[in-house]
Amino acid sequence: MTAAGDLRRLRVGSGFDLHPLSVDPGRKFLLAGVEVAASNGPVGHSDADAVCHAIADAILGAAGMGGIGDHFPASDPTLAGADSVELLAKCVGMAERAGFEVINVDSTVILQAPRLAPFRAAMESRMSEVVGAPVCVKAKSPEGVGPLGEEQAVVCTAAALLLAPRL
Ligand SMILES: [Zn+2]
Repeated sequence: MTAAGDLRRLRVGSGFDLHPLSVDPGRKFLLAGVEVAASNGPVGHSDADAVCHAIADAILGAAGMGGIGDHFPASDPTLAGADSVELLAKCVGMAERAGFEVINVDSTVILQAPRLAPFRAAMESRMSEVVGAPVCVKAKSPEGVGPLGEEQAVVCTAAALLLAPRL
């Protein structure tokens, strides 16, 4: 296999996820499997962890396997309150069983509050452990603009680089 042949085995995937934020102070706010200290957790069918969902979409997309909703649909009652770290682990397992290897993942959370700097190290280490490759989790403030700035939602984007199996 030439170096150029190896390069042709690289696959990039992108992921995006959004969850509305609840006004229910009892709603847990999980990002990348880490509980963030906040009084307005995201609403969703599962535990609504936007980082896990965006990363899962990026990995599945790079492997040509659709998105997380194709494999774990919100219409499935058994997935109510599901642990998204487990869902992500299952998605990584599917890609690996198809012969793909995750090289790295990069992600960005867009959230007005709270500031995520104190949680970043724990988030990255949790995600790297589950994905089996380096995962970067960055945080951006929407600077008070629009629904994100008004704390109505959390957004996460992700990119994943995978190595496809040899033909
Ligand atoms: Zn989601």
